[in-house]
Amino acid sequence: MFEEILPNLYRIEIPLPNNPLKALNSYVIKSEGRFLVIDTGMNREECKREMFSDLEKLHVDLKNTDFFITHLHADHLGLVASLVTDTSTVYFNREEIAIIDSQERWQKLYAFYLSNGFPEYELKKALEGHPGYRYGLKQHLDFCILNEGDPIEIGDYHFRCIETPGHSPGHMCLYEANKKILVSGDHVLFDITPNISSWFEMENSLKEYLASLEKIYSLDVNLVLPGHRSLWNNHRMRIRELEQHHQARLNEVLTALEDGEKTAFEIAPYVTWDVDYGSWELFPASQKYFAVGETIAHIRYLEEEAMIRRKTQGDKVVFSLE
Ligand SMILES: [Zn+2]
Repeated sequence: MFEEILPNLYRIEIPLPNNPLKALNSYVIKSEGRFLVIDTGMNREECKREMFSDLEKLHVDLKNTDFFITHLHADHLGLVASLVTDTSTVYFNREEIAIIDSQERWQKLYAFYLSNGFPEYELKKALEGHPGYRYGLKQHLDFCILNEGDPIEIGDYHFRCIETPGHSPGHMCLYEANKKILVSGDHVLFDITPNISSWFEMENSLKEYLASLEKIYSLDVNLVLPGHRSLWNNHRMRIRELEQHHQARLNEVLTALEDGEKTAFEIAPYVTWDVDYGSWELFPASQKYFAVGETIAHIRYLEEEAMIRRKTQGDKVVFSLE
């Protein structure tokens, strides 16, 4: 399914089966002779079918198509390898190339979540089903690295890159100042809340995320094109809501520790999650994994604010109020 949003700018909805995100918004911009595709979908058949069918209807010639990928997550990056030709440029950020290429990443994540109290059996299930593991980029690509302020010109659209670390270490938005358009990737979403997880590459991802929200708050924006769900116009109101949302979660983490020390896995059920599974016990392993990652990001923030302290107990890390 695709729709024209502005002259020569289209949204393609790429289905994400069995995923709470439901679909990815891929954006296609046409100009005379050249095309730009922003984010692509997962490296799986259902995404590929939709993308190829819509690109064909839009008369997009892949030989003349470049790609901009907001960040490394499989639903944005995974499919790009199936779309590139030897005359395509794939724009990406520097920070995340090392993460994609890392061989030992999944073992490191396994050890890290175990030490945070994740039960072994469920952790194995969560990692085996992880979209990045199953549907991520499976081959080496030569990216064209973009940095803060770098331009991407396509027809009447004059975009500039804005570095917005937080949701991921190298996340980038695109801003079109004349048309007041913000391509927000997963930095700002409207119907759902971006997942702010813990990263080996970011000491304090929530702090970086909040700073990146503040960074785009000042932009003059009439239309936000997010990576998932509905388009919106008022990014400032949403930014304030997202800040309040994280403040509420920080408070829930502190409340969880009032009756004694806990691992991150034990703190997570005290936090309010936007998913609808009834109780924590009924969360699928993959959702517990995302919830614990997000809990750790909030714990890290509170540690840096000197409100929580950690200690190692056997092979686990436990947290208590300062
Ligand atoms: Zn993402």
